[in-house]
Amino acid sequence: MEELKQRIQTEGRVIGDSILKVDSFLNHQIEPEFILKIGRELADRFRGENITKVLTIEASGIAVAMAAGLALGVKVIFAKKGHASTQIENMYTAPVYSFTRQEYVDIFVSAKYLTSRDSVLIVDDFLAHGQALGALVNIVEQSGAHLVGAGIVIEKQFQGGGKVLREKGMRIESLAMISRMREGKIEFG
Ligand code: 5GP
Repeated sequence: MEELKQRIQTEGRVIGDSILKVDSFLNHQIEPEFILKIGRELADRFRGENITKVLTIEASGIAVAMAAGLALGVKVIFAKKGHASTQIENMYTAPVYSFTRQEYVDIFVSAKYLTSRDSVLIVDDFLAHGQALGALVNIVEQSGAHLVGAGIVIEKQFQGGGKVLREKGMRIESLAMISRMREGKIEFG
């Protein structure tokens, strides 16, 4: 998506050698018109797949997932984050390692909202090492729902998560793929 790449190029800030901040429209301030456009683009890539639910993870995936859900005319679920000290009834849960925070958290989705009758599109803002996406796939598998694929706004190709999941046969559509980046220079793949 050309407009997205241009916005990343002009407004993105690279922190260290692996974190990209796009706080001006996606990760802090949200630009509704542009996020709706991103949602429509993601929805278009998966049209005809009979999607019944969009699934994401709190917090920064929610805006984009909501935009994709609106474009597809389906409900949106966001997995909640927390620590599972005890097994929670009627919840699907999966651990996810955060490289940015360097800790494990658990994510939860109520079995009430995701069932074996669903066809699911996973949506997230970033794909890096694939931990978050892998945990969401795990949740979909627990529910018995059909996984259609994943729609990602920005994939950092050089962190390898997308490659691993695609090799397992998963369909992943990313609107911007970053092959390399450092301060002041972002290259798309
Ligand atoms: P992964 O689990 O693929 O390593 O990382 C994906 C998750 O971490 C996303 O849900 C996203 O919120 C966060 N994330 C990973 N890399 C970045 C980044 O460069 N910038 C921002 N803003 N979030 C990131």
